[in-house]
Amino acid sequence: MLYSGASGVGKGTVFAAVKERNPLVRLSVSNTTRKPRKGEIDGVHYNFITREEFEDLIKQDGYLEYAEYCDNFYGTPKKQVEDMLNSGYDVFLEIEVQGALQIMEKYPEILSIFVIPPSLEELERRLRSRGTEDEETIRKRLEQAKKEMTYKDRYKFTVVNDELDAAVNEVLEIIKR
Ligand code: 5GP
Repeated sequence: MLYSGASGVGKGTVFAAVKERNPLVRLSVSNTTRKPRKGEIDGVHYNFITREEFEDLIKQDGYLEYAEYCDNFYGTPKKQVEDMLNSGYDVFLEIEVQGALQIMEKYPEILSIFVIPPSLEELERRLRSRGTEDEETIRKRLEQAKKEMTYKDRYKFTVVNDELDAAVNEVLEIIKR
């Protein structure tokens, strides 16, 4: 399952609630060169690695996909996803649009969800209230969100995260298919 949406839209919150109600879903843990935010744990939220380590794994063909986003690299380690799928889990790849398009090319049948905010104003409000990014980063992420929104029709499903319960129910319905 591809699972994308703007930074700050609440994808993580929706996913956490989905996982509580469907124990077979798992989120793939990506590698990133971004610095951890306050409260983020290495190996749980991401594997935080150096650019050199990231490039080494590219050379070893170790990524299902990877992309550069707001000056950092993010990628999905192949082995981890294969292990989760072999264990019978429904794997969610929470990745940005460029990476998702790579996966859609390789696996056209894959389910995909794009989570959108009720409005761009609301997205900006959520991004600011998170309080984890500086002004420059917030500005970049909002710009990126506007660009990414133009790709939403490439996804099989769009879920508006306005009211949390409704968004969670929609995702649960989609994965039942
Ligand atoms: P953040 O820095 O806010 O955690 O993530 C920034 C963006 O990178 C988000 O849209 C997130 O979904 C995306 N992302 C996280 N992991 C990956 C990955 O492995 N590959 C790709 N292509 N994007 C990712």
